[in-house]
Amino acid sequence: MKVGIIRCRQTEEICGSTSCLAAAAKGKGAFGPFGPCEVSGIVSCGGCPGKSAVARARMLKDQGAEAIVFASCITLGTPIGFPCPHRDMMIQAVRRKLGDGVPVLEYTHPAPPEKKS
Ligand code: SF4
Repeated sequence: MKVGIIRCRQTEEICGSTSCLAAAAKGKGAFGPFGPCEVSGIVSCGGCPGKSAVARARMLKDQGAEAIVFASCITLGTPIGFPCPHRDMMIQAVRRKLGDGVPVLEYTHPAPPEKKS
């Protein structure tokens, strides 16, 4: 399956999407039900408060994505333990815009375990 990933713009400087791409390629994490996936595109949300995510999800679909995946930086807060405060609105808006024919996954890979201090 071809998937398009939407990530948090705020974490672009500290994360190269390595874990998301690995999970997609191996069919791990949220990709499990689909098996190994081809990432047809990866974009940021466009910046706070994430309103551009809808148009970007539409663009990913128009360019071949069969599913849209919100990266774990948005929904689980990886890698800094800070989920997006706008995540639910973004996900709902994308689902409304793309309809039932396009699955929308809510994370990419599991959050790493908390470090004990
Ligand atoms: S809207 Fe959320 S996902 Fe987008 S840059 Fe802001 S915190 Fe990150």
